[in-house]
Amino acid sequence: MTFSEHLSEVSDDVLLYTAPRARVASWRRSGNVVFLLGEERVTLVDSGGNAAKQQILQLLDRIVKESPQAVRCVHTHGHIDHIAGDPTLVDRFQAEVWASREAIPYVEAQAPILIEREQSHMIVSFRELFSAPEFFVKGIMRLTMGRSRAIDSVQEIQEGPMETGFHPLDLPGHHPGHIGFLRREDGVLIAGDLLDPRHRMKPGLTAPSSDFNSMRETLEAVLKVSPRFLIMGHGNPLIGEEAIGRAIEQSLEILDRAERRVIDCLESVPMCLEELSSELQRLGLGPGDVFRRMFIHSVLKHLLAENRISKKVTEKSKAEFSLR
Ligand SMILES: [Zn+2]
Repeated sequence: MTFSEHLSEVSDDVLLYTAPRARVASWRRSGNVVFLLGEERVTLVDSGGNAAKQQILQLLDRIVKESPQAVRCVHTHGHIDHIAGDPTLVDRFQAEVWASREAIPYVEAQAPILIEREQSHMIVSFRELFSAPEFFVKGIMRLTMGRSRAIDSVQEIQEGPMETGFHPLDLPGHHPGHIGFLRREDGVLIAGDLLDPRHRMKPGLTAPSSDFNSMRETLEAVLKVSPRFLIMGHGNPLIGEEAIGRAIEQSLEILDRAERRVIDCLESVPMCLEELSSELQRLGLGPGDVFRRMFIHSVLKHLLAENRISKKVTEKSKAEFSLR
């Protein structure tokens, strides 16, 4: 079955739409979308960003035309590049939308960033973390991600198998309520923003709420599952137990290296997030300063929670960190 150059067949009943790389701005990107072809309904894992909306609709139109069936969308997490297709799916296909309990508020809001919810996870000011004031970041995001309107009646994903044999699997770390979908029979794991194959397997610590320790535990847990086919939220899938094992090890090494380097930096002198970010440029925690800051922010949160560093707010209202 060939629909488009971006569509590949993982198995008889699993199709993967790999989103093209963003051309305009890096924010204007879409996550991948997986189509699970069940007997009675087609289930989409994530609905992509605005940039991919037309293509996803065309694909779904063709699938439903071939064998008419109900449409459902289940989410790995509530980031806009994975959920922006929802309102159209609901309008056009009366699709049901499902997400984990913690992700539901994000999915319903359909917002580029839900700052009220992220705020409680932030240990520095918005400006320090995003390297620009809030109104500016929100404006840029609206411009580049497009607008989406809120939806309601998102249902909570329950445990147990879906009709194609996939089970939801908790994969915390990237964003609140982040989950994946695993089919043990053939070892296919749909893992959302666990790691990024486009950036040397960098773990998905790319949100204010990203959690360093949970990410480490999740990567270790996935290693034990030994998937044979790993479908990520971005980039091409990873194939084969060995290659996937190596990728996850690589990801774990990045966590360790980042933690070590942050401690090294703070050993010599107290630093704020901005200074740490420019100091750690060569660690490859990007792309770009904001993503690097997000990553380092998650390291700092974890070190602070373990009482290994302390935080002081300077006269210029910057958060400065030092080793205990
Ligand atoms: Zn994400």
